[in-house]
Amino acid sequence: MYKIRAVIKVLFRTTAKKYPIFFILKTIRMLVTTAMPFIALFISPLIVDEIVGDRDVNRLITLAALLIGLEVVFRLLNDLCTNYINRYSTRIERYFDILIGRHVMELDFQLTEDKEALEQIEKARTGMEWYSGGVNGISDQFFDFIGSVFKAAGFITVLALHAPILLAVMVVYSVFNALLVYKRNKINIEAFAKLSKVNRLFGYFGWTIVDPRFGKDIRLYDAKGMMVDSWKDNTRKSNSHWKWQGDSCFPFILVSEYLSLGRSIFAYFYVALLAIRKVIGVGTFTQLVAAEGGLDNAIGGMVRSVTELIKRCNYAYEYVVFMDYPEALAKGTRPIEKKQHEIEFRHVSFAYPKTDRKVLDDVNIKIVPGEHLSIVGLNGAGKTTFIKLLCRLYDPTEGEILVDGVDIREYDYAQYMEQFAPVFQDFKLFAFSVKENISFTRDCPDITALTDRVGLHDFVEGLDKGTDTNIFKFFDEEGVEPSGGEQQKIAIARALCKDAPVVILDEPTAALDPIAEYEIYKQFNSLVGGKSAFYISHRLSSCQFCDRIAVFSDGHIAEYGTHAELEKIDGGIYAEMFEAQAKYYKD
Ligand code: ADP
Repeated sequence: MYKIRAVIKVLFRTTAKKYPIFFILKTIRMLVTTAMPFIALFISPLIVDEIVGDRDVNRLITLAALLIGLEVVFRLLNDLCTNYINRYSTRIERYFDILIGRHVMELDFQLTEDKEALEQIEKARTGMEWYSGGVNGISDQFFDFIGSVFKAAGFITVLALHAPILLAVMVVYSVFNALLVYKRNKINIEAFAKLSKVNRLFGYFGWTIVDPRFGKDIRLYDAKGMMVDSWKDNTRKSNSHWKWQGDSCFPFILVSEYLSLGRSIFAYFYVALLAIRKVIGVGTFTQLVAAEGGLDNAIGGMVRSVTELIKRCNYAYEYVVFMDYPEALAKGTRPIEKKQHEIEFRHVSFAYPKTDRKVLDDVNIKIVPGEHLSIVGLNGAGKTTFIKLLCRLYDPTEGEILVDGVDIREYDYAQYMEQFAPVFQDFKLFAFSVKENISFTRDCPDITALTDRVGLHDFVEGLDKGTDTNIFKFFDEEGVEPSGGEQQKIAIARALCKDAPVVILDEPTAALDPIAEYEIYKQFNSLVGGKSAFYISHRLSSCQFCDRIAVFSDGHIAEYGTHAELEKIDGGIYAEMFEAQAKYYKD
């Protein structure tokens, strides 16, 4: 029950704030559809009584015109509301997509690497789509339920006035019927849970067979037979599952049908008896027969909409959970200026969430303002993790990181993020223009000068619309697909445009050819200027451009000093690595 309350509160409130008209339309439509059956219920008996009684033509015409007129107006209102509701429903769907998307982008970064959080995003997305029908699907059931309650109340009043015994029979019948529906729902819920596994396997084989990426392996390793057999096997399981569901529900459906038939027969006999005994007129006879059928429908509608509402809210609840997902990092409020900083790691250790292994183990280092630090070490030594901690994508498990003597957890998060311009190994370009990929919403005075500086002069010259050319072809047929090296240079230009006091380049030259790499190295100091810089690289020749070098090994800083100092350490990691690479280049 709390799930239904939470879903309705969050979803309806969010929608009502943005599109209040949506609920006004739904309320009007609910009132109209609730009133519709009562038009005939009250006017038809008057017509019948007139026909078998006075046969006043004027009165008959008036009643018929009223019946038809009200039907026409109500149907028109219903159609108009439905038309507008459908329009708003698509807009609302998009609006919730945006809300989910925005929340994903605002999540603490570490949650984007967390399996549970990723699953929750997926559940929220699917939960708000066809599983629940979104706000439209859920509010349909909600308003259907309220409408059915009103209808039931109307029919009950009519029956209570003229045929209380029939009403009592209807109540007993409805209780039995609700029991049967409950049993059937239980089977369906159980079947749904079992079916999701069958469907997953079924879907896997179905999709893999038609996925062109598997084409080569299927052909060259003759996987066709195995795939088709597995698919057939799952089809058999799926079929037998449907059979079980159908067979289990069948007796309940049968009893339900006969019970309903029995109720109708009783109703006709009983009401006919009242008419024969002249307790009621012919008009009331038709009214009671209609009210009996109407009440049955309204109760059925109530049961259906409640069951649907529970089911749909269960799915949509994943959205509520996701939007309330707890923050992973505590955020401070201390302001921080955009200026040169002193950075210090003090006894910093770190294990990734839900793991025990210390990826960083007692790291201590102090970087003076404007210093250029080269970070080297074998793969997996903890270099990127060190940078992630500095950028507050994660917090240390032990120890502290100080910027200008203050624990970075105390700083205002957004302002702190403004201090860093990193180019990660796995940077991403977006399907916007080259200019937008570099500046985003920032004011970057001279993009062309920037692209020239990172060696993109010829690339930009070759583009029809210069830096206004779109990257990739998603939005623009004329879009450009930059090479890996060009993409990396755009990412470097992006970092420079941010004009942050600390520049971080994590293997920025990995996709560059040797000449482009040399150009970047050569210009490195002028590119970064007087800013602090962290430079992760496997190519040790780059270290010569930096003030100091930190050699990471097994999660700690094994060696630290200038190139000249480290080169001299006998048997040192850096000396050996440098020697090996120099030899490789010389040979
Ligand atoms: P480097 O940059 O020196 O190659 P990393 O800092 O990327 O090393 O990784 C250090 C260790 O942390 C590696 O063993 C890696 O497998 C592990 N690691 C990196 N990212 C994650 C993560 N998100 N979750 C768990 N372990 C991770």
